[in-house]
Formats: sequence, C-alpha cells, structure tokens
Amino acid sequence: MATTMTSGSPVRPRLIADHFIRYYWRQAAPFASVAAGPSLTLLRQNTGRTAAVLAAIDEHRRRFEGSLAQARKETSSWRQLVSRVDSIVRQMPLSKLQTLGPDRLEFLYENLGQGAEIILKAGVAYCFRRHYALVADLVKGAWARYVRRFNTDLLGDRADLNEFLFGAERADLSAVAPVLIEFQHGECFYCHTPIRDDGLGHVDHFIPWSRYPVHLGHNFVLAHRTCNERKSDFLAATEHLEAWVDRNQSHKVQIETCLGQVGVISDLGASFRIAHWAYALTFGCNGLTWIRGQECRHLDPGWERKLAHAIC
Ligand SMILES: [Zn+2]
Repeated sequence: MATTMTSGSPVRPRLIADHFIRYYWRQAAPFASVAAGPSLTLLRQNTGRTAAVLAAIDEHRRRFEGSLAQARKETSSWRQLVSRVDSIVRQMPLSKLQTLGPDRLEFLYENLGQGAEIILKAGVAYCFRRHYALVADLVKGAWARYVRRFNTDLLGDRADLNEFLFGAERADLSAVAPVLIEFQHGECFYCHTPIRDDGLGHVDHFIPWSRYPVHLGHNFVLAHRTCNERKSDFLAATEHLEAWVDRNQSHKVQIETCLGQVGVISDLGASFRIAHWAYALTFGCNGLTWIRGQECRHLDPGWERKLAHAIC
C-alpha cells in the first residue's frame, strides 16, 4: 500500500479497502489444524469490526470458490464488497490508528472525517517507502503473535502460521521434481505418459495455489507443462483426486522424509482437510473440474467417498 501513496496527495479510503480485502482474502481461508478435527476452521482474529470484514470476505470466498480473480471480475458484487469494507475500515482502524492511549496524535494523516480523503503528512510517504521492509516485518511479526494468542488451542506450535497469514513466495520448486518423479514412476500424474521428454516436468499444486497458497509436500504432483497449464486453477476431476489420495496414503512417510530434506513441510492430515474444504466449496457451487486437455466436467457427488475415508 505504501508504494501507491504520495505525500500531500489525497488517498481514497476505497483504495485502502481494496487492499484490505486482498490481505484478508487469504486470512479468511480456513486453517487446517489437527485440533480442529476433520473440518477446517477459520482462525479467530478479533471480535467486532475486524470480524465483520472477515465475514463479508468469507461470504465472497464461498461464492467464488476461493478465487480472488473471479471475485474481482464480477464488478458489481466486488464494488459492493469494497463499499462494505470501506465503511468498516473508516471507523476501524483508520480513525483509531492515530489514537495513542487517551490522546489523538495525527502523525500520519489528517484525521478522517466522514467521506473525507486522507491527506498524508509531509514525509510520511517517503518514510513508508524508505522503511517498507522494516515496517512490513514488524507488522507481520506483531500480527502473527496476536493471531497465535487468539488461537493457541488450534495452532499449538505450528511453524507455518506466517506462511498461511501472509503467503509463501512461489518458491523455486526445482528440488521437488526429482523427488516426485520417483513416486510417479517417471509419468505425468494426470495423463500417465512418460514425463522425461519434458525435462523433469512441472511441479503442480494439486489444490491450486490460487485457492490455498501454502506449500505442503503432499499437495505437490509432477505433470507435463501442458497438463499443468491446462489444469490452471481448476480442481482436478474425481479420478485424479482418488489417485492423489492413494499416492499420498501409499507414500506418506517417504514423501514427507524426502521433501523434508529439500526444505518442504508436510502434513498429510492438513493436506487432506484442505482438499476436502476446496472440493466441498466447488461441489456447493456446482463448479467444474478438470479432466485432461480442454475437457472439464461438473464435480460428481462421488468425490467425497475416498477423501472422507482418508480423513477419518
Ligand atoms: Zn501429462
């Protein structure tokens, strides 16, 4: 956000609301926790107004199967969401951000009146840009500690909270491919033809990155570049889902061990619960799943059979 602000220029709170939604979009996804049992659960982040933002975003996440890109394409409903979040954000945190104890100290911007734009004080935009990395690091650390405090029963000492809250980099996954190719006998996970012609193949997030951007070892499969691209951010059809459950049950420990050696965290229970959540969302919307090439079909009711059994 700091990169778009200019000192002395007005900043539209709607723009801030837009960013707010983007940041919270991923945090409104349910967290896969062993303590939560077979289903996923939303992390408790606060009460009151922040919870209202999360509820509004969660409603949109469900409607668009978790896809932020799809949600933004529906211009009118996106505008409604931004308006709703805008009216919440004006009251909290914007009007409270400059209140220190009992005192109001307008050190960042002229305080926000009803319908007013925010005028940044001289030097504020420069400082945000200059110290962006430091400020972002402090804020993320503080926010993660805050969320952990609210959710000690769910989180325990889970190390991937920061990744869940703020997203992982789309890391270089080249070290993952040589591990997976052994488990797939040199074949593409989706079309079952040899992959060697395509170098080492492409590492695919079985539950697409756009829906749940966390790297978990059992979620990776190896595919041809073309299969990977055509699957895009669809969920894979039921037969692929069943093959994925089988592979992970058969090679649970080996995948965990081998990928652990190249720095990838694994949690098979969490991967299964994330898959269940994603497929349930798509089934609820009568969404399409990808079979091969350009072929897609609506998710059939049998999707849950094997997965539900695996979670129990
Ligand atoms: Zn293929």
